[in-house]
Formats: sequence, structure tokens, C-alpha cells
Amino acid sequence: MDRIVAFLFGTIVGSFLSVLSDRLPRHEQVVWGRSYCDHCKKLLRWYELVPIASYLVQGGRCRRCKGKLSFQYPVVECMTGIGFVLITQKFLPPLVSLCVMVLFCSLLVITVSDMKYKIIPDSMVVSGIVAAGFLLLINNSSTYALYFVSALGAAAFFLILWMATRGCGMGLGDVKLAFLLGLWLGFPYIVIALYLAFLTGATTGVILILAQKKTLKSRIPFGPFMILGAATAAIWSTQAGILWRIFL
Ligand SMILES: [Zn+2]
Repeated sequence: MDRIVAFLFGTIVGSFLSVLSDRLPRHEQVVWGRSYCDHCKKLLRWYELVPIASYLVQGGRCRRCKGKLSFQYPVVECMTGIGFVLITQKFLPPLVSLCVMVLFCSLLVITVSDMKYKIIPDSMVVSGIVAAGFLLLINNSSTYALYFVSALGAAAFFLILWMATRGCGMGLGDVKLAFLLGLWLGFPYIVIALYLAFLTGATTGVILILAQKKTLKSRIPFGPFMILGAATAAIWSTQAGILWRIFL
């Protein structure tokens, strides 16, 4: 029962996260703006906004203009639902659970925004840093300096890359994201995370170029690879017996 409640709550939060990841990069009104169809711009009614169910009932199309609705909506809603089930399953102290949820949501919005618009919203980096900072204060008060130095080191590394490539390879958003991930994971896990990010990012880049979907000059958003690497490193660090870094 608890799992079902956590999942349903997660899907509702997830539909809001989808809105955030579409509107933050476009600097649109986030809280008060009503949801509308991307094609015909008509405002959606409440029964068209039920997470997952509306998408399935309407066959993935807008009820009025029959335009295709993005697959992003049910996917983000599902992922948030599953994420919330996994987080609440850990029976962490309420404040810790809340911080992990905020961190999870921030990273999910960053992933979608970066994939779709190649923009990492500052507000989501800030909310992630606040959540990671709170987790540090709650659990690792004796070693927080190490995490802060890890964050600065990761950000400095990406800043150098950004300056060396003159903004063609990395963006400033990647620098800020590196700070957030460094603060969350600390040393040495941040190194593992970034290593995995470069490995998967480079592999994907080569595959896309070979498949002729991209050229050497096109920029592939790197944020999702950093977050994927961080999530993998976090799971691995949990295996190593460090409780609070639980992501999944
Ligand atoms: Zn429409």
C-alpha cells in the first residue's frame, strides 16, 4: 500500500518536473502558467493532466488537434514514481528522504532540459546543491571539507575544459553541474562518476557520428552522461557501505 501511495505521489510530482524541464529553459512562467498542448496551444483540462493515465487513454495524442504528445511525459512520470518508491523503501529519517527526493528531482529535470534544449537550468543546480549540502550537514559533519574540495575540484576541471575548448565542447552549465555532483559524491566517487561520464559520452558520440546522426562539430549534451555516471558511482558507493549516498 505504501509503495502504491509513493508511486502515485511520484507520478504527480513527475508531471510537474516535466513542466519544469520544458519551461525553465524557455524562461516561462512555472507555477501559475496552466499546461497547454505544444501543438495547438489550447489549455488542457484537469482530466487531460492525470499522470500516465491521460497519455494512455488519449493514445499519446492531443484530444483536439490530434498532435503527438511527447513520450517524455509518461516516461518522466514513471521514473519519478519508481524513484520515490525506492527512496521511501529505504526508511531513512524524513529529512534525509526529503533531501534525497529533491536531489533526485533536480537531477531528473537537468537531464531532460539538457537533452531537449541543451540548457542546464541554474535553479535546478541550486536546489540540488542545497539538498546535497543538507545531506552533508545531517550525516557527514566531520568530513564536509573533503566534499567541498571535491566539488571545487570537479568544477575547476570542467572550467579548464570549457576555457580550453572555448565553449565548444562543454558549457558553463556543465561546470555548475560538476560542482553539484562533487558535493554530493565526494572524493573518490566523483572521479569514478566523471570517468564513466567521459567513457559513455565518448562512446555515444562515436556511435552517433558513425550512424551519421551527428557530425564532429555538433555538440552532444554532456549533462545526462555526468548524471548517469554519478548515479552509477552512487549505487556503487552504497555497496561499499556508505548509507546516505543512496540514490537508488
Ligand atoms: Zn493540441
